Amino acid sequence: MKMSKKIITRFAPTPSGFLHMGNVWNLLFVEDFARSRGGQLWLRVDDLDRARYRREYAEDIFRVADWLGVRFDNGPRNVRDLESNWSQALRTERYREALSVLAASGRVFACTCSRRDVAAASTQGEYPGTCLRAGIPLNTPDVAWRFHLEGTPGAAHPVVRRRDGCPAYHVASIVDDVDMGMTHIIRGRDLEISTHVQRALAAVMNGEFGRFGQITFLHHALVTAPNGTKLSKSAGSGAAGLLSRRAPSAEAVRRAFRSWRETQVRACADDDFGPGL
Ligand SMILES: [Zn+2]
Repeated sequence: MKMSKKIITRFAPTPSGFLHMGNVWNLLFVEDFARSRGGQLWLRVDDLDRARYRREYAEDIFRVADWLGVRFDNGPRNVRDLESNWSQALRTERYREALSVLAASGRVFACTCSRRDVAAASTQGEYPGTCLRAGIPLNTPDVAWRFHLEGTPGAAHPVVRRRDGCPAYHVASIVDDVDMGMTHIIRGRDLEISTHVQRALAAVMNGEFGRFGQITFLHHALVTAPNGTKLSKSAGSGAAGLLSRRAPSAEAVRRAFRSWRETQVRACADDDFGPGL
């Protein structure tokens, strides 16, 4: 039986800083993709990292979306709604289910290395696999869980559960995308490594979480500063965020986006990580 599938995609910012123009470009890209295909656009606020969460950053997400005139079909309506009904902190039991599935795959190992240990053992800052064959039981107190993954620079043995027991970003992201029925994920090219890691994790998660493998990924070019550097939270925006500076009008931003988009029509292509896993 053939089922026609409605497109569902999302804008998923992390409230650990004010939004920058790179986020705005991604939001407009995702909105354009959804609206031009009759799909749904969800807002998901990735607020799992409570140490970096600040309410003013979450408020900034809603303010910027309002300013741009972006309307979401689902997701939190405001900060109170986010904190009461949508926060990832409310979903940790669900993430733990996913961690159990991952652990059962046999691809997860316990790691006792501190940040300093990793830095000392690797010139690239990449985890060198110190504990991979140490056979440390997963239920040992105060260990991180890592996923056995080799062969891609920048993606070696990612942490899936932190030492404090909290699920890592990749796990929460997979679970949320599956539970929210996402069909397409549209990200900047700087997140291609995340896509690779998440697909590798989902590939060993049978059953419901494995559905993540059916999601289509698109990676768009990044908006860059005049000197060619990527606009990031640290480099791109002032301390008070986009809207408190002398910002151009939302319509001017949309016009700039459209003309940039014209030059990038070939930039948004299906990613080619699939077969390499
Ligand atoms: Zn280790």
